[in-house]
This record gives sequence, structure tokens and C-alpha cells, in this order.
Amino acid sequence: MTVISPLPADGPRRSALGPVARAGRPGRRPPKISFEFSPPKTPEAEESLWLAIRRLEPLAPEFVSVTYGAGGSTRERTHRTVLRMLQETTLKPAAHLTCVDASRAEVDAVIEDYWNAGIRHIVALRGDPPGQLGGAYQPRADGYANATELTRAIAARAPFEISVGLYPHVHPESPSVAHDIDVLKAKIDAGATRAITQFFFDIDGFLRFMDQVRKAGVTIPICAGIMPVTNFKGLRRMAGPCGIALPDWLANLFEGLDKDPDTRRLIAGSVAAETCARLEEEGFDDFHFYTLNRADLVYAICRVLGVREDKP
Ligand SMILES: Cc1cc2nc3c(=O)[nH]c(=O)nc-3n(C[C@H](O)[C@H](O)[C@H](O)COP(=O)(O)OP(=O)(O)OC[C@H]3O[C@@H](n4cnc5c(N)ncnc54)[C@H](O)[C@@H]3O)c2cc1C
Repeated sequence: MTVISPLPADGPRRSALGPVARAGRPGRRPPKISFEFSPPKTPEAEESLWLAIRRLEPLAPEFVSVTYGAGGSTRERTHRTVLRMLQETTLKPAAHLTCVDASRAEVDAVIEDYWNAGIRHIVALRGDPPGQLGGAYQPRADGYANATELTRAIAARAPFEISVGLYPHVHPESPSVAHDIDVLKAKIDAGATRAITQFFFDIDGFLRFMDQVRKAGVTIPICAGIMPVTNFKGLRRMAGPCGIALPDWLANLFEGLDKDPDTRRLIAGSVAAETCARLEEEGFDDFHFYTLNRADLVYAICRVLGVREDKP
């Protein structure tokens, strides 16, 4: 009887491991990670946020950030959350801050409070107008007009770490990639030390964008924003006004699963892990996870990428 071997006799085979399995191989250097949370609105939401923070804390992220609601509506809650992180955890918290609906004096007072409280990292953003996403932005006459002005004010106050937003799909108000890159360079000149990207699904588009950013001479660290999506309908509502393209393959993966949250979560984890693993293969290893205040998916994705709990 002839036995047909599945292995070719001539020379070594290509590794059968896919990008995710390669990313999880023991012994390789794990990527840098950071997490974004939102300030909780209710005592129940606060409890579940803190469960998520406690679960993710041992993964030793570079930093964790807390968002700032439209029009400064979460000012107190953002402040309280970052302070509690500073006092009760080993995490390095970063507070998001926007220019919306606040005078320069009011924003300066928030910056001052953060420095005095021991916060050393601010994510400086212009913000969007309160109400519907995508509305026209009107800066206040006595306020900071954009994130560049805000960054300059933060840097003038104290040696904060300052992260700023970046848009692989081009910001919806921007005429071109070149303009976005010029704005990023202006923010760096004003004192920005890191950029965090909006989330994206077009990996090739992201890599092309990053090539252009680096070719323009930008050398600060850039974290790729990763959103594990479990609710595709909700994502579609949010993505349109932000100018984020949603590929057909993603829509197909979620089609018909409206009533099947378990399968949607599995898909969300697979897509996010594969995105990170592919980016790592291209030499990109700095990921900022939009956690939506839940730990389980992000924890699993980090494990897949080889990020392990810090052992004493
Ligand atoms: C990682 C990340 C986190 C975010 N977190 C929050 C949050 O917590 N709260 C919130 O409300 N929103 C948040 N946003 C959304 C953000 O506020 C919006 O995307 C907003 O529309 C733009 O913010 P920006 O800081 O990028 O704006 P900017 O960089 O100020 O850009 C806005 C406009 O001003 C122009 N501009 C800026 N600087 C210059 C300059 N020097 N010269 C010429 N033109 C200039 C730009 O071309 C652009 O049209 C976040 C976005 C990202 C990517």
C-alpha cells in the first residue's frame, strides 16, 4: 500500500501558523498596550467599570485614559475616575480634556487641578459640538479653538505627557491627509508627545497612512486605536459621521447575528486579535484598546497577543 505523506519531501514547509498563533508564541516580545475607559453615569456602571479596571490592571498597560463627555459634561466624573485610578491602582491614568463650551480660564483651571492632583498625562482634544455627531463646530470666542491651542496651553503649564487624536481615515472636517499631517505636526510643535488613532478596520489603509505620517518626519509614538466591535448596527451609526469606512467583510461577518450576542463577541475578539497580529507583522506594536468599560474581550485579545499578567 502506498502511504501519501502530507509533507513535501523537498525542503522546509512554510509555517502553518496564522498571524494570531504566531503573535501568541511563547517567548516573543509582547506589544505595548493601553486602555480607554469612560466615566460611569450610575453607581452600577461605576461598579462594573471598576471590575473591568481591576481585571485589566495586572496586564500592566503603558497608561489608561478616561474620556471627557461632550461639552465637558463629565468633567467631575472624569476627574474623580482618574484620581481614584491614581490613588488606588498601579495604573498611570491620563485624563481626556476638550475645548468645547469652556473658556480658556475654565480649561486652564482644570489643567491646574490635574497637575496639583498628581495627574501627569492629558489627552488633548478639541471635542465635538454637543448633540448629534458630525455637527458644525463653533469655537467659543473666549475658548481654545482647537487641540493645537489646547496642547500649547497644557505644555505651558507643566511638563505633562500630552497625547493627541489622529485619524487614519482623515478627520471629517479635513480636506486631505496632508492637512491632517500638518495639523499633527503643529500639535507636536505645541508640545504633543504621543498620538492615538481613531479606530479603523482597513488595515492596508492604516499602514499606508502611517507610511505618509512617518515620511513627513513624525517620530513621536503613535498608538493604533483598536475597537473590538460587538454591535455592528451601533458601530454603523457612529462610524458614518466620523468618516470611518466599514468594509463589506465586516458587515458580512455580523449579518444575521442581531439576536446572537455570544457569537458576535467571538467574532469581535477574532477580528480585533487578527488586526493587531497583522499590524505586528508589519512592525507596528502599540495598541490602544477602546474597552467600552468591559474587560473580558480586551483581556482575551491581549492574551492572544502574548501580553501576560505582571508576575511579582
Ligand atoms: C483617541 C481619541 C480620543 C477622543 N476622546 C474624546 C473625548 O474624550 N471627548 C470628546 O468629546 N471627543 C473625543 N474624541 C473625538 C474628537 O474630539 C473629535 O474627533 C473632534 O472632532 C476633533 O478633535 P481633535 O482633537 O482631533 O481636533 P483638532 O486637532 O483640533 O482638529 C479639529 C479641526 O481643527 C483644525 N486644526 C487643528 N489644529 C490646527 C492647526 N494648527 N492649524 C490649522 N487647523 C487646525 C483641523 O484641521 C480640524 O479641522 C476623541 C478622538 C480620538 C481620536
